[in-house]
Amino acid sequence: MGLNDRLGFDPSKVFISGAWVAPHSGEALALENPSTGEVVGEIARGQERDINDAVNAAQAALDGAWGKKTALERGRIISRMGQLVLENVDLLAELEAADVGKPLTQARNDAIALARYMEFYGGAADKIHGETIPYLDGYTVYTLREPHGVTGHIVPWNYPMQIIGRSVGAALTMGNAAVLKPAEEACLTALAFAQIAHQAGLPDGALNVVPGLGEEAGAALTAHSGVHHVSFTGSVGVGSLIQASAARNVVPVTLELGGKSPQIVFDDADIDKALPFLVNAGIQNAGQTCSASSRILVQQAVYDDVVARMSERYRALRVGPAADDLEVGPLISARQKEIVLGFLEIAERDNLTIAAQGVVADNAPQGGHYVAPTLVSGVSPGHELAQDEIFGPVQVVIPFATEDEAVTIANGTDYGLVAGVWTRDGARQMRLAKAIRTGQVFINNYGAGGGVELPFGGMGKSGHGREKGFEALYGFSVLKTVAAHHG
Ligand code: NAD
Repeated sequence: MGLNDRLGFDPSKVFISGAWVAPHSGEALALENPSTGEVVGEIARGQERDINDAVNAAQAALDGAWGKKTALERGRIISRMGQLVLENVDLLAELEAADVGKPLTQARNDAIALARYMEFYGGAADKIHGETIPYLDGYTVYTLREPHGVTGHIVPWNYPMQIIGRSVGAALTMGNAAVLKPAEEACLTALAFAQIAHQAGLPDGALNVVPGLGEEAGAALTAHSGVHHVSFTGSVGVGSLIQASAARNVVPVTLELGGKSPQIVFDDADIDKALPFLVNAGIQNAGQTCSASSRILVQQAVYDDVVARMSERYRALRVGPAADDLEVGPLISARQKEIVLGFLEIAERDNLTIAAQGVVADNAPQGGHYVAPTLVSGVSPGHELAQDEIFGPVQVVIPFATEDEAVTIANGTDYGLVAGVWTRDGARQMRLAKAIRTGQVFINNYGAGGGVELPFGGMGKSGHGREKGFEALYGFSVLKTVAAHHG
């Protein structure tokens, strides 16, 4: 049974108004398996005309069946989508593993997270509401939360399912109609999700998916005057282009961009507890995670011990094909591998200390994009490896002496996405939670299991706007104030 039979659709088509249609250009892009480097199929090369069709379909859904649904009805459909995702977890995990190179267990967790987003948002649909505002005598004033209209969603390749769940899930919950442009490197689960939404009874046009290149389909979507909100997850450079493009239509933008997130280990920390978080947060999804903890700041008294114990873990890390489900899979592409190896060459040029590396398995196919996870110690806070987002399995360890110094180093990059603080001192926990400039701060943990309930987003060049939790529902709606005068 071929992939298309198992999927029930042809991934070289685009999904518009509830139907699979060939892109206008008739052109396709190669679908590569990062574990082998082999081309295993084709996806559609959607372009401006396909985006126009998708935006028109979304507007028609708003003017028609989807726009007429009550919050309860929307919630039921979205909950049903979550249920169907759960029933298809194995297939979705297999697709994501093949498409992204993500080890199967990690891919499976993403599919479960997608279901969880739909459960959370489906349940929230009829629980979010406006307010009444006390005002002058003779007035009744209240607010309404209304959809923006057509929302555009541009998603990267590293966590397609989770990012679709948090952005498309929240947009549909608030009654928007969505046009999704997944990444050209990995779009199979986005397409499978469209099929699932259709099966769950989502009205035609409420969700449209157009794969294609960023500079073609992506740029056409963000420039389209019929799009009323843009949600972008990806790199800082493209995020800034998208904000400029949306500004021409004066529409709001949510930007979820990169990071250089620190974990700070004080000398009173429970190091046994911290260790798995310190390493996993750097190598999960081969380090291709926006909230990866790529900087480990360690107080001097425990510095040698932490480096030694992290090194021991690094040496036990195995790297191999996604299907082998090891700790680390391949990077997404030859280009990404080249970028990461470029940083390791800089480390060599500057005589940095490679404290430890993981091991690429002997059976890892030659054409796969494998890089051994690398721990670099004794790095100064201003060095390129401690400043730039590497987006690969490379972590730097930076020593510090005092709490003030730790805060200065933590805040000393352009980014501000996530931070972790490891200390038993309660007052210090509170001080750091306030002093650190990131959208999320984790105390004695990192990531809190990724909870869909927890608002997420950046400060500085990590972006603006919040997704996840109820906060996303505010972002994907617009507040209207109604003042009635009745004498
Ligand atoms: P990217 O910015 O190159 O691509 C992301 C998406 O934007 C893709 O779908 C791409 O096709 C599209 N795109 C590219 N050029 C475009 C254009 N001119 N107009 C419109 N769309 C365009 O990023 P990437 O390399 O795919 O992903 C890695 C980056 O994403 C990293 O910087 C990472 O930190 C960031 N990221 C952030 C989060 C977060 O939640 N903050 C999550 C995942 C990834």
